[in-house]
Amino acid sequence: MEKLKLAILFFIILLFKDPAQAHEASSKPDSLSQTIKEAISDLVEDNAAFADSKSAKYFRGFLDIQNPRVTMVLCSDSRVQADNFSQGAENDIFMARNIGNQFVTTQGSIEYGIDVLKTPVLIFVGHSHCGAVKAAMGDFSQLPTAIRKEIQTLDVKGAANDQQGVSLNVHHQVEQSLGIFKSKVDSGQLAIIGAIYDFRNDYGYGKGRLIIVNLNGIKNPKEIQKSHYFDDIKKVVIGIQN
Ligand SMILES: [Zn+2]
Repeated sequence: MEKLKLAILFFIILLFKDPAQAHEASSKPDSLSQTIKEAISDLVEDNAAFADSKSAKYFRGFLDIQNPRVTMVLCSDSRVQADNFSQGAENDIFMARNIGNQFVTTQGSIEYGIDVLKTPVLIFVGHSHCGAVKAAMGDFSQLPTAIRKEIQTLDVKGAANDQQGVSLNVHHQVEQSLGIFKSKVDSGQLAIIGAIYDFRNDYGYGKGRLIIVNLNGIKNPKEIQKSHYFDDIKKVVIGIQN
């Protein structure tokens, strides 16, 4: 039983960590302890630098209330952060994160963003090289229950490769959310967007680009482009139909 648990743990580590980027410290208790210390120190010191750099005026606009325009569902992957899409996410992006940018396991947070905070935009952001998508495309039956429960909410059926798996999953999450928010979309109160953040240039639009792949369930890039939402956005990338 212990051997099985160890094997599962090893599988999870392989699944979610790029071996080339894994911290060497993981096999050395002393350096691991140092890594922990440095990580905590960086958080504390970076926060202190942030707090010191801002005046009271900076926080005044949102001390008592938040007014975000966007509810974003983003994969938890550390290589993808709000900074990649926004130069001022504070009080603008209401964020729900989980592995695989799924709708179902974070539905309450999404409904809060849309029904309570009244954000007029809901965006699901997948990304290149997503560990959750890779897991969903393989046999994940041996993963621990809590992780398996989240992975099984992804739908990558028919994906020929990782890239297609990521876009299929984004489409699936948009479809799931349309099941709840369709009336808001139809009445023009809400736009639901599916997108992929591509830090590897897997899709050929350039490293670090956000690619719009779905608008309110529409997957055809030419049809999406016709929406007036994109009229004045010069640098928008709309692509990938599958
Ligand atoms: Zn991911």
